[in-house]
Formats: sequence, structure tokens, C-alpha cells
Amino acid sequence: MCFQGSKTTSTSQKRAWYAIIRRVTIVTNAANEPDRPEHLTPERGNLFVFSGPSGVGKDAVLGPLFSAGICPPRLRRCITATTRAPRPGEIEGVDYFFLSREEFERRIAEGFFLEHASYAGRSYGTPRWWVEAEVAGGNDVLLKIDVQGALQVRSQAPEAVLVFVAPPSVEELERRLRGRDAGADPGDLARRLAIAREELALARQYDYLVVNDRIEKAVDELRAIVIAARCRIRR
Ligand code: 5GP
Repeated sequence: MCFQGSKTTSTSQKRAWYAIIRRVTIVTNAANEPDRPEHLTPERGNLFVFSGPSGVGKDAVLGPLFSAGICPPRLRRCITATTRAPRPGEIEGVDYFFLSREEFERRIAEGFFLEHASYAGRSYGTPRWWVEAEVAGGNDVLLKIDVQGALQVRSQAPEAVLVFVAPPSVEELERRLRGRDAGADPGDLARRLAIAREELALARQYDYLVVNDRIEKAVDELRAIVIAARCRIRR
């Protein structure tokens, strides 16, 4: 995998980013790498993109996937950046890096992001250098990003594995969104639902579809996709 149009990020920026991740990350998946003959070990990791409409339960699936004993070996989750405000309980460096709009714009200009997109009036972006460093080091990376971002990643890294998570129905999605964002601005809910309809229409552009009707099943399916890609020898 070779990212097109790589830009450089300063060492001090990288240090600051890693310092926060280290402080908050519990490493659950370092020890269970299966034995492979060295000459058959892939030199680079895989890049997975996991998208689906807001409220579909992406975090509910990723929580168990990244838990001890279940997380596939060497899978890392990328923490992305956003200009939206933290929701109650969200933590800097765990859920997102929360940036001001000015800081976000500055980073776009510096080429900091592998992809970036605007979603419901806020900006979101993936730190390019972090993804490149992890994949080059042989780790698999999972990005939880929206459909616009996923398609940008595909154009930059055609080997990326795109997984779409869908709700069993739009009605069920609306019910989940209302449950999660109770008390949120009704305009925001309507915007998210309208975006969800557009995103569902693009699911066919992905490599895999996981329907989140039952969390355990969705976790099993996503895990199987990650493990199959890791076992692949011809890339
Ligand atoms: P939320 O505000 O609900 O956390 O996220 C809104 C949407 O933005 C979700 O679909 C989420 O997956 C997506 N998202 C989060 N980080 C990124 C990112 O770095 N890039 C893009 N393109 N989308 C992102």
C-alpha cells in the first residue's frame, strides 16, 4: 500500500499526538500475534475503513472488537480529529482529538489529513502520518469514518478494505438515533437521518456489508473480515 501525495508532519506534532494516545490507550492486543514464518510475514499492515450511518452502532461493535481476547492481533484503531464539541463522557485522545476550526484548517493546509470531510456542519479528518507509520510497521489500522472519507481513502489507497455497517431498517436507525441523542437539537437529528439515507445508497461501493441487527453477530463478522485479510498472502 502506498499513499499518494504523502505530506510531512513535524516531529513535535507527532510526539504530542502519541503522548495523548499513550496516556489513554490500554494495549489489549500486543501479545497474541500468531506464529508465522518470518519470510511469510506481511511487510505492511492492512487498512480497514469502517463506515455506516450515524447511530447504527459502530462504537457498539468496535468496543467488543477491541476488547482483550477478541481483538485480532496487531489491529489498531485510529483516533481521528473533529471540530465538533465532545459529547458527555467523550475523552480527548480516546474518542477524538477535538480541534478548533482554525487548527483544523491549518492542518488541512499542511497536508496533515489522509482524508477529511464535513459532516452535519462539522469537520472530521484522519491523521495521515499515524496511519502510514502503523501500516508501515506491519500493524493493521481501522478507521471509523464517514462515506465521503471512505471514498477518498479508496482513491489514495486502493488496497484498503472497505466495510459498511448497515441497520436492519431506516426505522430502526431512527429509533437508535433518538435513543442516543435524546435531548439533542431536533434539526441535528433530522440532518443525521437525511445523511444516513444518502450513505445507505452508497453501501454497494464497499467491499463488505455487515448488518448490525445483533451486536455479537456484527462483531463476529467484522472480526472474520479482519482476520481473513491478515491471513491473505497475495496482496
Ligand atoms: P459523530 O459526530 O457521530 O462522532 O461522527 C459523525 C460521523 O463522522 C460518523 O459517521 C463518523 O464515523 C465520522 N467520522 C469520524 N471521524 C472521521 C474522520 O476522521 N473522517 C471522516 N471522513 N469521517 C469521520
